[in-house]
This record gives sequence, C-alpha cells and structure tokens, in this order.
Amino acid sequence: MRVGKGASLRVGKWASLQVGKGASLQVGKGARVALGSLLLLACIATGLTTRPTPTAPLTPPLPDLSIAPEDVVLYPLPVPGPGGRWLFYRGDQISFDVTPRHLGAIPPQDLTVRIYRLRGTEQEVLAEGAVGYPTFDGVPRARLTWAWDTRDAGGRETLVVHLDPDDRVRAGDEDPTNNVVTLTVRFIADTARPAPEAAATWATTTTDCCVLHYLTCTRAERDLSMLTDTANRAVAFAQDRLGTRLASPLQVYFIGRVLGQGGYAWEGIVLSYPDRAYVGTDLEMVLRHEAVHVLDIPLVGPATPSLLREGLAVWVAGGHYRPESIPARAGALIRLNGYIPLAQLAEDFYRHQHEIGYLEAAALVAYLVETYGWDEFLAFYRQSGEAANMPPADALDRALRSSFGVGLEETESAFRAWLSSQPTTPDQARDLELTVRLFDAIRRYQQTLDPPAYFLSGWFPDPAEGKRQGIVADFLRSPRSVRAVAIELLFTSAQESLQRGALDQAALLIEGAERALDGDFSAPPASEYLAIARAVAARGGEAQRVELEGDRARVWVTLGEGTAACSAPQMWVLQTTDHRPPTTDH
Ligand SMILES: [Zn+2]
Repeated sequence: MRVGKGASLRVGKWASLQVGKGASLQVGKGARVALGSLLLLACIATGLTTRPTPTAPLTPPLPDLSIAPEDVVLYPLPVPGPGGRWLFYRGDQISFDVTPRHLGAIPPQDLTVRIYRLRGTEQEVLAEGAVGYPTFDGVPRARLTWAWDTRDAGGRETLVVHLDPDDRVRAGDEDPTNNVVTLTVRFIADTARPAPEAAATWATTTTDCCVLHYLTCTRAERDLSMLTDTANRAVAFAQDRLGTRLASPLQVYFIGRVLGQGGYAWEGIVLSYPDRAYVGTDLEMVLRHEAVHVLDIPLVGPATPSLLREGLAVWVAGGHYRPESIPARAGALIRLNGYIPLAQLAEDFYRHQHEIGYLEAAALVAYLVETYGWDEFLAFYRQSGEAANMPPADALDRALRSSFGVGLEETESAFRAWLSSQPTTPDQARDLELTVRLFDAIRRYQQTLDPPAYFLSGWFPDPAEGKRQGIVADFLRSPRSVRAVAIELLFTSAQESLQRGALDQAALLIEGAERALDGDFSAPPASEYLAIARAVAARGGEAQRVELEGDRARVWVTLGEGTAACSAPQMWVLQTTDHRPPTTDH
C-alpha cells in the first residue's frame, strides 16, 4: 500500500461521502475543566492569581446539588469502538473530572466527591477529592488525576460517582438521592494500542540551555537535533533581549499532541510537536516566548498583570505564533474594530479573544518601550507587580502613574492614536481577521471533539509527574476518527496558506473547517479532506498533511504498525477519479 514519490494511488471518488452524525465523545458539555497554574501558548511560570470561582451555573429557583453522567469526564481520551462506544486501553492511568450541578451557595472546597468501583457486591474506593479545583473558566470541579491504575480492569467496569457521600451538606442539597451516578467504562487490551503510543517512552537530552524531554517514536525524537539547535537559539535570543541569564537549565517537554494553542508552562514548559501540526506555530517563537516567562521571574511580583507578562513575551519574541511586525499588525485592531479597552483586557486577560488579547498586549509593550525607553519600561514592569491585592487594571493604572506620570485612561488614548497611525496594510488586517477566525474554529473543534485540549476547560497535565510515572497517553493520544483527522488537516492547510500569504485560499479552508464542525462535509474542501483521510485510513495509515493540486493530492502519511511505525511520514500521491475543478487552489 505504500506509494512512492510521484506514484499514483487511485482512491475512488473522494467526494462520495457518507456523513453520518458522529457519536459524541464521552465527555459532557459540562466538562469544563480548569488549568491550574498554566497559561496558554503562553503560560505563566509563576504568579497566576488563583481566582475564586465566581460564576455559578444558572440557578433555578430552588437549587439542589446534583450530578448527571455527562458531568463526569475521564482522561486520557478514549478511542472509538464498535457501536459508537468509547474504549480505554487496559493499563491507562485514568483521571476524573467531576463537575457538580447547582452548587448554589455551597462552598466548593467543602464538597467531597468519591468514586467507587463495583466489584461484585463490594465497593472499592478509587478516588476522592474536594470540588475546590482552581479553574480558568470559573466552574468548580473535582479533578482527580491519575487516580485509577487500570492494569487489572475487566472488559467492562462499573463506577459509582458520589457527591457529598457522607451527607455533610444540608442547605442546598435537600435531595441527596440525585447526588449519585453510575458509569460503565469499557476496556480493550493494552496490546491494542497503535503506534506511536505503543512504543513511546519518555527520554531526555541535555543542551547548552535546556533539558529536553521527549517521547520516543514521535516526531520530536526524529527531529531531535533540529529541536536542540532551535532551543539553544531561542533561549540565547530571549536572554540577549532581556539582558539576563537562566539561573538553571530550562526544562522543555515536547509532547505528541496539541493541547491548547500548542504550549503551556508548568515548572518547565510544554510544547506540542505532533505530526499533524494544526496549530501551526513557529517553534522558535514559542520557545522564545516561554523562555521570557522564565527569565522575567525576577521582575514580576504578585500583582504583575497577565496582560503585561504576555505582552512582554510576545513583544520580545517578535510575534505571537510567527514573526510579525507587532505595531503594524496591531494597527488592524482599530481598523477591524477589535480593540479591547485596556481596563477590560487587564481584567480576566485569558478569557478575552486569545489572538486579539495577546497582540494588543504586545502592542502596548511596544508603545511603552517606544515612548519611554526600555530601561524605564523595565522599571515600570517591576513596579506593576508590587501592589498586592489590587485588581489588574488598578495595578496597571498605579504603576503607569508612578513610572510615567500618566494614568491608564490617558495612556489608552495615546496608545489608540499610536495604533491608528501604524502603516497597516489591508492584507495585514485580513490576515489578522483570518487568524482569529481560524483559531476560534480550532478552539471550537477542541471543545467538541478533543475536550482535554480546550484551553479553558481541558486538562494540561504536569509533564514532570507524568514522566516520573511513565505516563504517555495524556501527552500523546489525540482524536483519530477520520472526521477529526479531516478537520485537523483543513486547519493545517489553512495555517500553511496563511503563512505564505495565500489569504483567499486560507479563507476557503477555514470556511470548510467551520462547515465540517457543523457536521457538513458535503462540499469541497471538507468533502475532499474527509475522503483523503478515509482513503489513507483504509490503507492502514494516518494522514498528517495534505497538498491539493487539481485532482491530485500529495499526502504525508504515518503508519500505525510494523517497522515503519516510528518513521517519518511518507508521501503518498492520491488521485481522484472524478474531475471536478479544484476548489482550494487559486
Ligand atoms: Zn505566555
């Protein structure tokens, strides 16, 4: 089934597709999970204020604490099995997210969740914890990580999830009978894992700047020498720009699946480096960005607004996802009416539209450095962290007044005027518009088809602990249904089109992805991408990247088994038998 370069493989009619309604993941809509102390592509190495959990769910007249099956989410991602069932591999270390309903005035940390496994007539306690997990999305939940070692699991296991099992909560929980749900969890053999998960283990290499941790049998292992060079270069760049040095080697974890926008920080930094790189970020930019978050630690205090930390990281890196002229690109914020008032942006920085928030924050840093000078900016940056117990907008205002003698309001009018004066081209504005649309579609995809990856509610696990326990599934297993693969391929192609400035083509691909997310694969390009994903899967491969040219598709394919399982993708050429005009080429 392997097809060499230039050879042609007939795959039948790409476009004759059956688009069934996909079974929904075993992950409830209520599965909003939280990121503890980590931020997106981004991150904060330290200093993220853990917010209280202010937004209670919509409250009915008489709230009564309860739980439904969809309020319990299991990680790692299960795999689809026969009959629309979702399956785990025996040996998975399972984590639980439990999100109670109608919490009302019950303090989350006072509410216990206990999970039992039924064994005959016995109930064995698997895990227990409070609902006080600190969250980004403000939804209280219990997160019980790597709580169930399933090595001895049968084909079918029954779990009971019990809220307030000892009946300590009275007010707000008048009916304790709706505090219990029972779940069936199904398993297949450990040996059924496909590549690369079957072969992957954690490994480490040390470079000038960093300790690089990666998974064997993944793209990171294949590209290790390039990653080493890139990491050294990126860290040296950030150190030079900030005029400081790392106190100790940077711990960098390359993982084989996308989580969030492609990176996050724990004690080290975690970078997504999958074969199907649908987030499309420039690795060196991300490494610069994350290195800034580590290098600026001596400059930050408990109150440093996230807006400034992310703004500094993007500005020093020289762009967000890719190298770009920050002032000129940010000028598009005014032209597109996307500008967010600074007081609002400073408050709850991570909940604003991600790409706009980061760009605007970087532009503010650019403006302040240009207006007042770098040393003065650094003094201001340091000062902004000192005001403990102050909302971010007030801390910003106070530091601006103290450093530059002007408050937030006055700074904002001057900043807006500066943005309006930037020489933004129509293409730069359109690129920003399309980037925002593409990443919004990516996040929608993650929310519906890959919940662990969704930044506000997914689970970004601690890689050091994962490595210590030898866990790879949470860092590697991602959706592999042909529909999911097709959508990720559309994203990947859209990213590549944006990178080379093919904006019309990018727009077409993004629209195709949006339709596919609505379940509509009936027209190109979504129909073509789904057909390609199917054709490759039918031959035992997984499509990682596509280039369409007329009725031919060049597809980069990884293989699931055999000696080639850990190898770089092969290029296959697929040929459609019908000759509809190409729709994704201009
Ligand atoms: Zn960041």
